[in-house]
Amino acid sequence: MTETVTNWAGNITYTAKELQRPHSLDALRALVAGSAKVRVLGSGHSFNEIAEPGPEGVLLSIAALPPVIDVDTTARTVRVSGGVRYAELAREVYAHGLALPNMASLPHISVAGSVATGTHGSGVSNGSLATPVREVELVTADGSTVTIGRGDERFDGAVTSLGALGVVVALTLDLEPTYDVEQHLFTELPLAGLDLAAYDTIAAAAYSVSLFTDWREPGFRQVWLKRRTDQPLPDFPWATPATEKLHPVPGMPAVNCTEQFGVPGPWHERLPHFRAEFTPSSGAELQSEYLLPRRHAVDMLKALDGIRETVAPVLQTCEIRTVAADRQWLSPAYGRDTVAAHFTWVEDTAAVLPVVRRVEEALDGFDARPHWGKVFTTPAAVLRGRYPRLGEFRALARALDPDAKFANPFVQAVLGD
Ligand SMILES: Cc1cc2nc3c(=O)[nH]c(=O)nc-3n(C[C@H](O)[C@H](O)[C@H](O)COP(=O)(O)OP(=O)(O)OC[C@H]3O[C@@H](n4cnc5c(N)ncnc54)[C@H](O)[C@@H]3O)c2cc1C
Repeated sequence: MTETVTNWAGNITYTAKELQRPHSLDALRALVAGSAKVRVLGSGHSFNEIAEPGPEGVLLSIAALPPVIDVDTTARTVRVSGGVRYAELAREVYAHGLALPNMASLPHISVAGSVATGTHGSGVSNGSLATPVREVELVTADGSTVTIGRGDERFDGAVTSLGALGVVVALTLDLEPTYDVEQHLFTELPLAGLDLAAYDTIAAAAYSVSLFTDWREPGFRQVWLKRRTDQPLPDFPWATPATEKLHPVPGMPAVNCTEQFGVPGPWHERLPHFRAEFTPSSGAELQSEYLLPRRHAVDMLKALDGIRETVAPVLQTCEIRTVAADRQWLSPAYGRDTVAAHFTWVEDTAAVLPVVRRVEEALDGFDARPHWGKVFTTPAAVLRGRYPRLGEFRALARALDPDAKFANPFVQAVLGD
């Protein structure tokens, strides 16, 4: 049987003949042990060939394994199967009076796939989604299970792992008491006169802050402040309060966006920009994102403003977020408080790629690390120089996967193999 398997955006068609969906852990172990090349596909929301196993390889989904979401209210942790999506996880965690510290803009992405690429939300004190992970359970190349927890010397390589160490069948995450969030939206924040001190104040004005622009004019069309109701809402004199409900892409109906206008609600119904009950099966878009040391935030914005006439024609929206430093060796936020510039492009790869290159040129000199799951053209040799702990990750991959069963051309290029 031949099955066409694509990613969510439809810009990648995997060369594997079919998607293998084992229904039990034993079947998964046997499949892994008996295959020469394996890549796992999560919910398929990445925009590049990171999950591509090659024509002779096995593309594996763990979505058919019995889902596990075990909340321990005493320890304040949850053990979750890797294929579970954040929307499902969040509902169960919330039902136990607990919370995750942050979520990405879309709640439909799988937990293992998200932390594998360093996926993040926003907030100067919020690390990537990998930050609350305290343990990962992997099925490795010979079909055996390896558990790596915080405190293990391998741990800092084991969460944001690009799928290169094995199949992540379960993860345990730290939780906190539940909290409510309100979204306050503003419009028209000018770029002129914005210095680093002002940017830092704006970025820290609420628990999670996003600035959006279409780069058709200098400055930002929208500012989204996500305030925890247990934290103060400072005055926000920088922009004008929104008078209607907004979608991050100008002109798009806001009906699928999470509740705005300061209406308080559970964390998992406000931290993502998009509602969980709206399930987009595919998207007419491409995405890129670059993560830089936060001290470069304003220089980065000026550099992007300098090429906005090139960027705007193929751009749907650009979102500026912050991510707190983390310790995962391959995390784009490794070791540095980060500002992230995200681009939602039109779905035309040929038109977008030259602009992606232009963005990368403009950001050259800022030590930008591209999001692992999005479109980028930065040469692998350049990337390697931007990850000081890459050598340790390579050694870990060789130790857990000596025959490089879980490596594909994407991973091999990154590791320099
Ligand atoms: C509409 C949209 C909104 C987005 N919003 C954000 C955002 O707010 N912030 C952000 O940072 N990113 C965002 N992304 C990017 C997205 O979070 C990442 O691409 C993420 O990796 C998607 O998870 P996934 O399960 O779909 O991973 P996939 O694309 O399926 O896989 C990604 C990688 O994870 C590996 N993997 C997946 N599951 C496993 C497993 N069980 N074991 C081992 N390896 C595994 C794969 O092999 C691959 O290497 C968005 C993407 C879309 C389409």
